[in-house]
Amino acid sequence: MDFTVSDEQREIRAAVADLCAHYPDAYWRGLDKRGEYPDAFVQALTEAGWLGALIPEEYGGAGLGISDAAIVLEEINHSGGNATTAHAQMYIMGTLLRHGSDEQKQRYLPAIASGKLRLQAFGVTEPNSGSDTTRLETKAERRGDHYLINGQKVFISRAQHTDMMLLLARTADYDEAHKTRGLSVFLVDLKGAVSSGQLTIRPLDMMINHHTTQLFIQGLEVPVENLIGEEGAGFGYILNGMNAERILVASEALGDGRWFVERAARYSGDRVVFGRPIGANQGIQFPIAQAHARLEAADLLRFKAAWLFDQNRECGAEANMAKLLASQASWEAANACMDAHGGYGFAAEFDVERKFRETRLLMTAPISNNLVLTYVGQHVLGMPRSY
Ligand SMILES: Cc1cc2nc3c(=O)[nH]c(=O)nc-3n(C[C@H](O)[C@H](O)[C@H](O)COP(=O)(O)OP(=O)(O)OC[C@H]3O[C@@H](n4cnc5c(N)ncnc54)[C@H](O)[C@@H]3O)c2cc1C
Repeated sequence: MDFTVSDEQREIRAAVADLCAHYPDAYWRGLDKRGEYPDAFVQALTEAGWLGALIPEEYGGAGLGISDAAIVLEEINHSGGNATTAHAQMYIMGTLLRHGSDEQKQRYLPAIASGKLRLQAFGVTEPNSGSDTTRLETKAERRGDHYLINGQKVFISRAQHTDMMLLLARTADYDEAHKTRGLSVFLVDLKGAVSSGQLTIRPLDMMINHHTTQLFIQGLEVPVENLIGEEGAGFGYILNGMNAERILVASEALGDGRWFVERAARYSGDRVVFGRPIGANQGIQFPIAQAHARLEAADLLRFKAAWLFDQNRECGAEANMAKLLASQASWEAANACMDAHGGYGFAAEFDVERKFRETRLLMTAPISNNLVLTYVGQHVLGMPRSY
């Protein structure tokens, strides 16, 4: 067994850290306060090639593996930033890469890699279906050379900051015997859809600065050539991308967790109360040390999942468990950091409360930890299906 980090991975981490140093806490704090999108940061990330990390070199991307992409996102969150503002492009693109036609790949991937085109929105969740994706109701009906789409989506992030959206819609009625059939994936020109009045975006007021919206789709016409893969097979395509998503989200949680532990250790070493640093008290020190240990354990599982993924081996169990453990470890670190900061943890200028809110999301979205546990129970342990 070899746990050595390669020179290349060390260089990736250092390069991303250098880039992030230009976007310090005050940058993210200001965006959070004003509810703004990190346009400058996303632009810089794209220009440096990091958002195209997983796009193969033949399409103008960096052709890196998921282990490398994981380091990129981890380091962004470790720096105090928030990679969820831009991460979707990395894993949504995989659906296009694996299931798109040659023509679609030639048309979109180089433009995404160069930053000419943003593919940052993923339209799955609906008000009536929630976690039960197979129950989604947005309908796409074939009408000659296009599909006519009607429906509603909720919690769709970055819809106002992207050119394209990957949309999951129903092309056949729900069939209890074949629940996962009848769903299809479309590439939607979101800006065009909005300007033609066929789609309305309504921002949602959320706990974090996540640019999350509700979509009302009214007679949206999507050309047949924008269907990805086969009609009706879309659920499987989305599932294929889930392992990448889980590994990347786990990495963001690990980055957050390391930020919390470092801040907590530093602050509790400096802050003197009752004549000694608060970090000398076990009530402050142990939770920070415990969170660090849990992060290290989750990190190993994350890299195991990433390694399996990069070897094209089955990694569903590891990817899911890495997301579960990393998000829990980060939440534990967030609470230890909050406790160590006392009242200052609640002051925006310390950034702890912002990161605290941001990392909490990773236990709920893009998939809630309960649903991860149902996966482990059913698919890893062979227990009865609970949903
Ligand atoms: C900030 C934010 C950004 C998001 N961005 C996107 C996006 O870009 N695109 C997108 O498509 N979606 C997005 N989502 C949606 C997110 O993926 C869903 O919120 C999440 O999958 C849960 O769905 P729900 O909110 O409808 O919860 P529900 O499905 O209503 O579940 C509520 C609770 O019940 C639990 N539960 C449900 N069924 C079971 C069961 N069988 N066993 C145990 N527990 C169960 C769930 O785990 C959860 O804790 C986002 C959400 C948030 C908050």
